[in-house]
Amino acid sequence: MVLGNNSITKLDGITGQPDSVYTGNVSGPLVVHTDGTIFAVQNLYTSSVAVIGIDPTTGAQKFSVPLAVQPYQDPPYSFTCSPGGTHFGRVNVSGMIVAGDGYAYVAYEYPEASISCSAVGYVSHLRLLQVSSSGAYNVLNIGDVQPPNPGYLPGADVLNIGMITNADIGVLLSWSINWIGDVDQGPVAGMMMTNGTSVTAINPPSLPGQNGIIVPVLQAQDGSFVGTYRDSSGQTDMVAFDQTGNVRWTVPNDQPQIATDDGGVLTRLGVTYDQNGNATGQIANMPAQSWIGRGYEISPLMQIAFQATPQATPPYWSVAQANLSVNSTSPICRDDRDPLIKEYSTFKSGFTPVCSDFTGSNNAQPSPHFSFAQLDISDITRSEYVDWAILRSTLLNGLETTRGNYNNQSITIGSGYRSPKVQNIINPNAPRDRHIHGDAADMSTGNSQTTWNALHNAALATGACVEPELTPSGGGSTVNHVHADWRRADGAACAATWLQ
Ligand SMILES: [Zn+2]
Repeated sequence: MVLGNNSITKLDGITGQPDSVYTGNVSGPLVVHTDGTIFAVQNLYTSSVAVIGIDPTTGAQKFSVPLAVQPYQDPPYSFTCSPGGTHFGRVNVSGMIVAGDGYAYVAYEYPEASISCSAVGYVSHLRLLQVSSSGAYNVLNIGDVQPPNPGYLPGADVLNIGMITNADIGVLLSWSINWIGDVDQGPVAGMMMTNGTSVTAINPPSLPGQNGIIVPVLQAQDGSFVGTYRDSSGQTDMVAFDQTGNVRWTVPNDQPQIATDDGGVLTRLGVTYDQNGNATGQIANMPAQSWIGRGYEISPLMQIAFQATPQATPPYWSVAQANLSVNSTSPICRDDRDPLIKEYSTFKSGFTPVCSDFTGSNNAQPSPHFSFAQLDISDITRSEYVDWAILRSTLLNGLETTRGNYNNQSITIGSGYRSPKVQNIINPNAPRDRHIHGDAADMSTGNSQTTWNALHNAALATGACVEPELTPSGGGSTVNHVHADWRRADGAACAATWLQ
């Protein structure tokens, strides 16, 4: 996803070619929902400022939610006392996330100035837009805040927001507003928790020497939070606090990185802390972690031996910036894909799929000659999350081409996608089998050597990795199915004997 000058371009993940473009007066912040919908801000600092949703496939606008309140004027008080009146000023958008409840949340603020010849009123309205990926929305009231000197007109209000999910319930939001003008009026700050459309104020943690807001960074396994704050020396410190804002512990000069599955936290400096804030270990060189569980060191860029840190589960927001892609979107799918994804860590599959990798059973015919029910047969037989499967386009295209090479005769799929748990039942010695990647299929042969040869050659001609004829320990050959997979499109290699 590239945010350009007035445009958003979605690039194909493999080829890098643009596959959809939205053009309009768009700006950040920008987040992408787990269903693919892109949320962005349009026409910022105008009377028609809005949060828009974009369809990632077509680049078309799905919806637009206006943020500015009318009558709009910027600055809001540049009118004379007679006749006077009320105007609303520019909308400041600060913070946009997709929370674990599936809504995008956009924090924003706008001033209201009411002027008559005898009085001046100035108030900053702090709001939280809760919007679904279909455009249904609510505006939550975070507060209507007056500057410390109510009769004074500031030059600008400056909004600071720290926001993360609160599991799948709502969000935790930390805010401060500062009024800048001839006299800096000092910030007013608060902390809120939402549940549906209700908003509850909590007392934010208050720490010695604290300068600015508490920024929530992670949610720990037990639902408490770990965040950061600046102290009087300008250093960033770490603070753990519970759902009512009570401080549990602090650590100077470090920042949280991953909430671990034992209730602790791994920090940016590579130190592990338990749930009480006691240091329990140290990773010598804290690597960058990839989705597939590899660790990387930068300068020089190299992959290093590294044990991926088990995250708090469900992973609502167990990594700084929500997930390993640091894109402020809770990686939760809110359906059976969540336990399916968890199987990939339970069974040490070597990679972690995301919501959009899966096809739903509502797509009954994902390819002209192969149905969802055929391609998910291994999971369906075992009643294993039967509504979702990874069916990569390389598999669908590969099977259709194989069928064409097979003189357009029908092909029976004995096994296509397998969940890691089903893979473990079928072959516990191959936890990283291509069937869990969704780019492999076993084609039935009826134990015919002639059919085996024909399907083997038909698949091989598509560029697939095709398992050679098996020789069981007792001798003879096993020709009851042809396994083909299209892993090479995923950058993976197979043995030379699988390519001949
Ligand atoms: Zn197979």
